[in-house]
Amino acid sequence: MGEKDVLHTDVLVIGAGPSGLAAAQTAAAGGASVTIVEATGEIGGNAAFSTGYLAFAGTSAQRKLGIADSPDAYLADLLAEVEHRRELFDPEFDTAVAERFTRESGAGFEYLRDLGFWFDRIVSRPLQHSVDRTVVMTAPAQFRDVFADHLERLGVTVLVRRRARELVRAGGAVTGALIEGPGGTATEVRAARGVIVTTGGYQASSALRARHRPDADPDSPYPGLDTNLGDGHLMLEQAGAALVNMHMVPEVVLIASRLIEECIAVTEDGVRFHDETGPEALRLRALRRLPGAIGYYLCDARTAQGKAQLLADVPAPKKTFESLAGVARAIDADPAVLADTIRRWNETVESGVPADPEFGRVVFPRPRTGITTPPYTVVPMVVGTNISAGGSRVSPDMEVLDVRARPIAGLYAAGDCSAGISAAIGIGGLHLAAGITLGRVAGRSACA
Ligand SMILES: Cc1cc2nc3c(=O)[nH]c(=O)nc-3n(C[C@H](O)[C@H](O)[C@H](O)COP(=O)(O)OP(=O)(O)OC[C@H]3O[C@@H](n4cnc5c(N)ncnc54)[C@H](O)[C@@H]3O)c2cc1C
Repeated sequence: MGEKDVLHTDVLVIGAGPSGLAAAQTAAAGGASVTIVEATGEIGGNAAFSTGYLAFAGTSAQRKLGIADSPDAYLADLLAEVEHRRELFDPEFDTAVAERFTRESGAGFEYLRDLGFWFDRIVSRPLQHSVDRTVVMTAPAQFRDVFADHLERLGVTVLVRRRARELVRAGGAVTGALIEGPGGTATEVRAARGVIVTTGGYQASSALRARHRPDADPDSPYPGLDTNLGDGHLMLEQAGAALVNMHMVPEVVLIASRLIEECIAVTEDGVRFHDETGPEALRLRALRRLPGAIGYYLCDARTAQGKAQLLADVPAPKKTFESLAGVARAIDADPAVLADTIRRWNETVESGVPADPEFGRVVFPRPRTGITTPPYTVVPMVVGTNISAGGSRVSPDMEVLDVRARPIAGLYAAGDCSAGISAAIGIGGLHLAAGITLGRVAGRSACA
């Protein structure tokens, strides 16, 4: 870095994903001067490109539909998910942080609604959520646009293309950070009330994945931001934070939940083999049981047009065919077998039954129309990673804890770089909801 500028603020937020944005907005609304720095050219983080599923308990959206939910019910679902992961990862899970999240998650939803976010519907995920609590935001770019408006109104200083490199410490407390800007410029941001680290995960760093998960391919695809390099983790560790669950970078079959609603998956023989919309770990297991772990997603022209971006995001070559016979030839299946698979799927979808009789799938296309309109698109199922669970231990107030479980003065973390509840990684919609809910907690704590 060259000559250093100095900038003063009450609260510095590092990383402008959902957790950083909620933290910055909350701190600013509480009267603090706030600066948020973001490594990419725009705010929103992964949330702005995500599937837009968010799981909150006890929301007005649930009440409107007569769905009874509670923090305890959500907590029980999180604990069940952690148990499923016990054998492979033996993760650490902080029940006190989880209680804070589940208790405040309903308010997290109302917060977004009050800011002007809109949601489309609630989806069922019965194998993960014991009650329907996952709201769908079909326009996740709201994370960029709605927050941009509010931050501007509150006078938050937003610095994009700025990468935080190091936390500054004085007298045992964190007092700011060194920020690298375009062309190697250097700024020290001094934060009088606190620094909140919200830099997301480390899925984009092959080096960190290789170090912490040596038994998995560190270069398998990651469809999110290439700035999820674990900068925050390294800075937190350097400041004395205890990092846990760093080995927990689960492999998943990469496809967006909103896309899969309209797709089926078939083997090389052209038959379905699992609930395509079930928990990620079960989908992966089903694929790995197939010879050569080869499977294909299949959809028709309406999906390819209506969800073109989500389809483009699947990191595998797509092929399009005018007939199902063409699809069958491409995957080496018997055309009659594939045609029969599609016929049965279409009958199931169009019959309106609540669950698919073959694999118990309960998530269907909306409206309930099968795979009927050529051309058909086929795409190989690809294994990669989408979320990492490792991060700093935090208190229920999102204070970063050191190796002796003592808060490090002036330092807070939220979102994917904190580890409190991250072990419940496979719970759909948890990450965005927790980013918002606990990001707000961090914003309040830094101002307290
Ligand atoms: C394709 C995809 C779909 C997903 N869909 C869903 C979903 O439907 N529901 C759900 O709950 N979760 C979903 N997720 C996960 C979810 O997007 C993340 O868990 C969530 O965005 C994490 O929020 P965050 O604020 O912690 O971090 P991020 O959203 O990762 O944001 C971190 C920000 O910090 C910035 N940054 C990193 N390092 C620095 C640095 N040194 N200095 C400054 N800035 C830095 C990054 O550029 C980024 O903007 C999805 C993820 C992917 C990849």
